[in-house]
Amino acid sequence: MRIARFVADGDPTYGVVELAEDQGPNPETIAAVSGDPLAGPVHYTGQRLPLADVRLVAPVLPRSKVVGIGRNYLEHAAERGVEAPTEPLVFLKPNTAVIGPGEPIVYPEETGDLHYEGELAVVIGRICRRVPAERAADVIFGYTVANDVTARDLQASDGQWARAKGFDSFCPLGPWIVTHLSLEEAGTLELTTTLNGEPRQSGNTAQLIHPIATLISHVSAFTTLLPGDVILTGTPSGIGPMEVGDSVSVTIGGVGTLTNPVVAEDAE
Ligand code: MG
Repeated sequence: MRIARFVADGDPTYGVVELAEDQGPNPETIAAVSGDPLAGPVHYTGQRLPLADVRLVAPVLPRSKVVGIGRNYLEHAAERGVEAPTEPLVFLKPNTAVIGPGEPIVYPEETGDLHYEGELAVVIGRICRRVPAERAADVIFGYTVANDVTARDLQASDGQWARAKGFDSFCPLGPWIVTHLSLEEAGTLELTTTLNGEPRQSGNTAQLIHPIATLISHVSAFTTLLPGDVILTGTPSGIGPMEVGDSVSVTIGGVGTLTNPVVAEDAE
């Protein structure tokens, strides 16, 4: 199932993206559901709209936090000139950094080196603490695509990463959450990032140094995870700068494509 949040003519609503029975040129529809599927049971309202006629927004607003994992692909650690960590390297992004598909990444005036980082994101489905790796699948709601936008110069000069990874708009998520992938399937997904249509990153989640189950176990060992919290699993090699006017797309096979423009701060 692909679960999205969308705006048609009012407040954001959750919906299920499906293929219409009558498959014309725009075969996808979105079927609205009541309530929040991350908070409890929902049901179809009966409203169905062409997907092309609605605006998708971030498929989840993390209840408390976005947990990032640094240097979780060997080749990315190498391109950063650092050792791959023996344990997952954890950081936090504020939930206010989250934006949805198509929404602008705002280039802050404090940085001169703004980077994309395409990543698979895990959406947590239930409150949990100290989850054993072998039980990790039980707490996963689904998966979406993320861009762990990073001010590379501030990452170095600040010494820790709160600001470099925490500006508003630095966590695009979307276009929807897929709930049907097994943990094993999520561990073999192709990931590509393009900038203005040109390939920049190419990887596979099979290359994760610390796999998804290990990340959930490690993170939940120190902090309670809430439904709607998100874990970013790390980025493959090929990171690089974005400029105002660019369009960045992260595609994960079997999940979807997340595209965002980059705009100047005063253009908002
Ligand atoms: Mg990252």
